[in-house]
Amino acid sequence: NRQWLLARRPNGQVSVEDFARHDAPMPRADLAAGEILVRNLMFGFDPAQRGWMDDAPSYLPPIMIDEVVRGSAAARVIASANPAYPEGSMVRGLFGWQDYAVAARAGDPDLVSIPEDIAPEEALGIFGAASLTAYVGMFDVGRLRAGDCVLVSGAAGAVGSVAIQIARLAGARVLGIAGGAEKCRWLVEDYGADAAIDYRCEDVRARLGALAPDGIDLFFDNVGGTILEGGIAHIARFGRIVLCGAISGYNDVRGAVGPRNLMRMISQRAEMCGFILLDHLDRVPAAMADLRQWVRGGQIHYRTDIQHGFGAVPQTFLRLFSGSNQGKQLLRIDGT
Ligand code: NDP
Repeated sequence: NRQWLLARRPNGQVSVEDFARHDAPMPRADLAAGEILVRNLMFGFDPAQRGWMDDAPSYLPPIMIDEVVRGSAAARVIASANPAYPEGSMVRGLFGWQDYAVAARAGDPDLVSIPEDIAPEEALGIFGAASLTAYVGMFDVGRLRAGDCVLVSGAAGAVGSVAIQIARLAGARVLGIAGGAEKCRWLVEDYGADAAIDYRCEDVRARLGALAPDGIDLFFDNVGGTILEGGIAHIARFGRIVLCGAISGYNDVRGAVGPRNLMRMISQRAEMCGFILLDHLDRVPAAMADLRQWVRGGQIHYRTDIQHGFGAVPQTFLRLFSGSNQGKQLLRIDGT
């Protein structure tokens, strides 16, 4: 059973040296009631995995040193002691960076069946946790309304690109922030944003002032730091800020910078709320039904960036932090 272990805790910027390849025996075949044995076929990468590598309290326990790195995978069930996940069926779960895993619903909040008409890259991508996060973040946490001026940061990524399109479908005016001219072009041409801001070469605050003269009603923030600060500077009266992620600080040992202008939240009577998808799993059936309809109807577009080979797992994870990923970052476990 090939595995990638956490060899040491990343010190700031995560690097390939933080992981070690290991060959373990096949997991035991004597499954307890409720357990399944799966063969992973594809991994999905999430910026949150970086947080789980720190020895800090969070919504899931830290990954321990020499433990298999926790991560999403699409897998085939090769032995089952759970009738909900029969042998031969496809499942998604937090099976970790390894070929084979034993899993049970009790220990894996993400364990779900993948219907036959959904491919592994769709189960981890457009019908995966990132899209569900965009859905509950926009509707339930952000209380998205038609006519809102909505801002999304990290807008070309897995969560952000779906957040932009949900806002557009709900009748909002949508602004997106992403890195680089090409990603900014996707925002407008493919995802239907009204305008895009390239944070790498533009003055985000000045552009927000020009694009949202009446302020931002709903800011869905994936980035934190100075971009969050820029959004606060232009928040509308009674505006809402949804804190989904803060990727600008994940590799920073000092933690994310700012925001230094929280006073603006008071003068604008604005609110700011963090959320974690795992607290909203009751919304998954409704979200899946809507996403299916939008995707199959061509109303939502998405990109998946599929890398290859078990050996390329760590460097594929690193792509999230350089912005190299072109949409949802995945890896097909073929070859070495
Ligand atoms: P993405 O597909 O968006 O990939 C990460 C992107 O972040 C990169 O492509 C890059 O885009 C951008 N980025 C990386 N470093 C920086 C930086 N220093 N400053 C600004 N942007 C940066 O990832 P996801 O869509 O999977 O995740 C997006 C966010 O959502 C993350 O913060 C994640 O933690 C959060 N999240 C939260 C969940 C929740 O339950 N609250 C659940 C799932 C995700 P670019 O090229 O534009 O710079």
